[in-house]
Amino acid sequence: MEMTAVTTAAPARHTPITRNLVWAVGLVFVLGVLIALVALFNIAGRLDAQDLAKTTFYTQRALENRISASKNYVASYATWTTAYDHLNGEVDVQWAYTEQNMGKTLFTTDHYDAVLVVDPQRTKYAVVRGVQSHDDAAALLSTSMAELIKVVQAQESLLVPVSQFTLFEGQPALLTAAAIIPNDERPAVDPRSTSVLVFVDQLSPQKLNDLSTDYGLHDLSLAADNTLVPGQPAVALTGTGFSLVSRLERPGHQLLWSLLPPLGDALLILALLTVYFFRYVLRASGHVDASYINLDLSNQALEASEERFRAVAEAASDWIWEIDDRHHITYLSGRFGAVTGYSEQQWLGQDIEQLLFCDTTSLSLWLNRLNEEHNVSHLRCSYRDQSGQQRICRVSARPIHNKGTVVGYRGTASDITDEVAAHAQIQHLSLHDALTGLPNRNKLARYLEEALVLKEHSAALTLLMIDLDNFKPINDSLGHPAGDAVLLEVAARLRECTRDIDLVARLGGDEFVLVLNGMDSHTEIDRICERVLESLQQPIHYDHHTLHIGASIGIALSRRQGHMPEELIRCADIALYQAKSDGKKTWCYFAPHMNDQIQHRRKLENDLRQAIKNNEFVMHYQPRYHVDGKQIVSVEALLRWQHPVQGLLAPDTFIPLAEQTDLIVPLGRWVLREACETALSWPGELMVSVNLSPVQFIRSDVVEDVREALIHSRLPASRLELEITENVMLNDVDGALATMNALKELGVRLNMDDFGTGYSSLGYLRTYPFDGIKIDKRFISSMGGAGNDRAVVQAIINLGKAMGLTVTAEGVETLEQLDFLISDECHEVQGFYLSRPMEKQALLPLLKASQDDYPTPGPNL
Ligand code: C2E
Ligand code: CA
Ligand code: CA
Repeated sequence: MEMTAVTTAAPARHTPITRNLVWAVGLVFVLGVLIALVALFNIAGRLDAQDLAKTTFYTQRALENRISASKNYVASYATWTTAYDHLNGEVDVQWAYTEQNMGKTLFTTDHYDAVLVVDPQRTKYAVVRGVQSHDDAAALLSTSMAELIKVVQAQESLLVPVSQFTLFEGQPALLTAAAIIPNDERPAVDPRSTSVLVFVDQLSPQKLNDLSTDYGLHDLSLAADNTLVPGQPAVALTGTGFSLVSRLERPGHQLLWSLLPPLGDALLILALLTVYFFRYVLRASGHVDASYINLDLSNQALEASEERFRAVAEAASDWIWEIDDRHHITYLSGRFGAVTGYSEQQWLGQDIEQLLFCDTTSLSLWLNRLNEEHNVSHLRCSYRDQSGQQRICRVSARPIHNKGTVVGYRGTASDITDEVAAHAQIQHLSLHDALTGLPNRNKLARYLEEALVLKEHSAALTLLMIDLDNFKPINDSLGHPAGDAVLLEVAARLRECTRDIDLVARLGGDEFVLVLNGMDSHTEIDRICERVLESLQQPIHYDHHTLHIGASIGIALSRRQGHMPEELIRCADIALYQAKSDGKKTWCYFAPHMNDQIQHRRKLENDLRQAIKNNEFVMHYQPRYHVDGKQIVSVEALLRWQHPVQGLLAPDTFIPLAEQTDLIVPLGRWVLREACETALSWPGELMVSVNLSPVQFIRSDVVEDVREALIHSRLPASRLELEITENVMLNDVDGALATMNALKELGVRLNMDDFGTGYSSLGYLRTYPFDGIKIDKRFISSMGGAGNDRAVVQAIINLGKAMGLTVTAEGVETLEQLDFLISDECHEVQGFYLSRPMEKQALLPLLKASQDDYPTPGPNL
């Protein structure tokens, strides 16, 4: 009853505002298109009108110019005493025609179709197309000669020719006539007594064509006046019934033709889209408008709406449910079957909690709460579909009221199984390393947080920080796929070495972390470290390559280094740093003193980086002498660091650090350049010896570095000697051999440095292309002692000689040592006794003196 009252009380229909708005937008759009089209046509029209005016103007111009040219030409013949003498009165044909004064050249060269001399009585002389004719002018031209002569004679000045259009042989022609008068100072002639010279220029297609070209017109041609169409650029040839016409370019037309088809297409598409859009919007607006007029809904409309609801319910991907006050299912939409695989009948009348399960709250409780909250709410529930698969759905619900009491609930269930899986996937990715699948830094942090901070009684925990040795060269030389393969293998081996309760994580690059749960006895940890290093040292096979890597381990214990995750990681990191500088392939427990040491090293490392930039390095030079102790054979370049605070630092304090941090590469390049450049200023052919670090062989293209330094400094390669220790062969025997052969090919000398401290393998000496050996100073210093080092030195000298190598003894500090070496016939000597390393300025006088005594220095072979 209430409903009817409302319906009758509001017969005035609500204005469908949205619909009107849509129509208004449509109208604006159509108007816009129309305005654009009108503007386009307007522009095209204007362009065409301009073209018409321009073409007409130029056609006119072309004609006028031809007329005026012709007038000038006729005048030049007519106002001419000789012509007057030969043509006025009886025509002198001999002069005019035979002698070609007014003969065929006027046709052949000047293209006049007819040349006539007329007087009022007759045509006295005629040449038609270069040939003399006896025809009367009347037979040739449509113009009356008598009339023409009258016009000529009526001219104010006889000097001015007259022009007219005529028909010559039925075709329009330009006729130009002038009185034949003398151009000397005779008493003025009587105009009536003179004959008239007439030139006829027929406007043939060829001539019009030439004219078109000259004036930039298109297809200048003749058209009978009765065939002219309006809007054609025509210039009347008065008296002939013809006009001169030209074809229009019609740029406006062209514009339209070029624009309209694509424009039409675009408009068509736009129109279709618009129609589609309109239908959509109108339909949508219909819904909106419907909300304005829903008071008008009759019972019929209500039914329609229910039908629509059902349609929506069936079409939606969610399924719709209804339950009664006892939570028994009373309705399930058709989608229910499709999504869950069950039939609706199976579930109607069942308790909804039989179907849906929520692990955080009871569904009934949640529904009951809805009554109080008066709004829609969501709950994540799970259920098993007909195939037994667990699925997850987001349930929304709303109470159904009847006369103020809740009689049931209705809502939707959206399947979010995929969404949840995707979310889990993303979670996993954010916590795991994409390459190895191991937990990443985030996950490690979370893990430590839970184990150390959140747990009330946190168990002992050991953190091993592992860094691979030799990984970078593999990655650099064999490429990322090889690097990836190594990392995957390492991940697998680390997992093998650990228990399930431990965590293996990858921090990035070649850094891994092991977290050992409930383990902090050194014995146990040592065992694990041993196992890890042992496992990682096993060769890795990749694509026909056998790769060798090793690792260093830094260890931090939660019971000692505290329960803050970051602190634990930091300590393990410091211990790792220590392990690496202790010589790699080892492990090291964190100790508080390392902190200072590490701080110091970090600072030094930082300073070192800056030092390269700030040019804080200098070279000192130490000569090497012939065993006589007088003749300098070479000079060794020794690096120094002029530290801003710590003063001059010897290489032992920073070279190892530079080697660990790869700074050795730029530093080594600098040394090579500096040494080569300095050597260039030395007298004679003196050699310079440069020390190379084994790390340069691994981390840098040392051959290229040397080549570059030689080319840059222009020092002949024969003046450069490289000193290399045996260690260079430890890492990669074959690679080192190849590099040394390549260095030799550059033309430099190679000296084995510190001989006797490494393997001192004879095999190396034989295989590698060394030119000389330097006996380590340790042997020299103890030569005078009780031991048998003298014998060792002797043996080395003999061995070197036997192999054809130059033997140098370094670290010669005393005369006694020198004497021994002289008697043992060592080739060359170097040491404080002879000369200390010095700055390059101090060295020069020494070199000059030696040069003066020994002008041709060279290695003693
Ligand atoms: P090294 O190549 O064996 O150089 C000889 C070292 O012995 C030099 O030390 C030199 O000053 C020192 N020395 C020379 N004569 C005597 C002597 O009679 N008695 C004693 N006790 N020592 C003597 P320095 O300059 O401190 O260099 C140490 C090491 O640093 C060098 O040993 C070399 O391996 C390395 N080094 C120096 N300069 C460079 C460089 O430019 N690049 C590389 N990679 N290493 C360098
Ligand atoms: Ca050396
Ligand atoms: Ca040495």
